[in-house]
Amino acid sequence: MTREQLKAHLQFAADLGVDGVSRDPLWRDRPIDAPPANRVPANNDNRPNPRSEAVQRVTMFASSADALAAVRTEIGDCVRCKLHAQGRRQIVFGVGNPSADLMFVGEAPGADEDVQGIPFVGRAGQLLTKIIEAIDLKRDDVYIANVIKCRPPGNRNPEQDEVETCEPFLFQQIDVIKPKVIVALGTFAARALLRTLDPISRLRGRMFEYRGAKLIPTFHPAYLLRNPSSKREVWEDMKVVRKLLKS
Ligand code: URA
Repeated sequence: MTREQLKAHLQFAADLGVDGVSRDPLWRDRPIDAPPANRVPANNDNRPNPRSEAVQRVTMFASSADALAAVRTEIGDCVRCKLHAQGRRQIVFGVGNPSADLMFVGEAPGADEDVQGIPFVGRAGQLLTKIIEAIDLKRDDVYIANVIKCRPPGNRNPEQDEVETCEPFLFQQIDVIKPKVIVALGTFAARALLRTLDPISRLRGRMFEYRGAKLIPTFHPAYLLRNPSSKREVWEDMKVVRKLLKS
């Protein structure tokens, strides 16, 4: 957003009677709900507030797309964690509708995502696309992102320090998009969002309140490629998602 656009936007707000812009993260009335009982250790709870200056100023952006662009700009050519020096080609930020009602959160980019710069474009991604289409939506209707924005070498699991460094940007994406429903794909995403140590097998089939959205944990598409019989449970979860989107 240029200075002139920002000035015009603020003038427009003033004309509507807005007499100030809150920097209070609570302005969105998005309570962060109590996580489930099986929490990760206390040091995770003392993390700095993930809301950056950029997103505290989200009210100043004309659209969610602009606010998301500001988050992307803030990430920059990130060197905050060791993954930048471990062979990642590019940051895989997220893709889709910046005002989506439905958001999918995965773990981390794989090899195909690292090449294309788009989440979920490999085999697991193609299955995710089918899952989305099964509830009569298109990829463009939803927003797709990962907890980690850079590919871990050899597709290893992301490490705790990498998660702690990167997840504030996912939280910012969620706060900008304000989806009605978030689908956490797999143990890793569900654990990161819900601050729990429970495996996906204990979390799926349940619904959680999360940052003002309903959060549905389900199996990761990569797991479904190895265990096709679990597609039945994912279909049950997606029917719940479809119902929530209509409510
Ligand atoms: N698996 C993920 O969790 N995310 C991707 O983007 C691709 C595969």
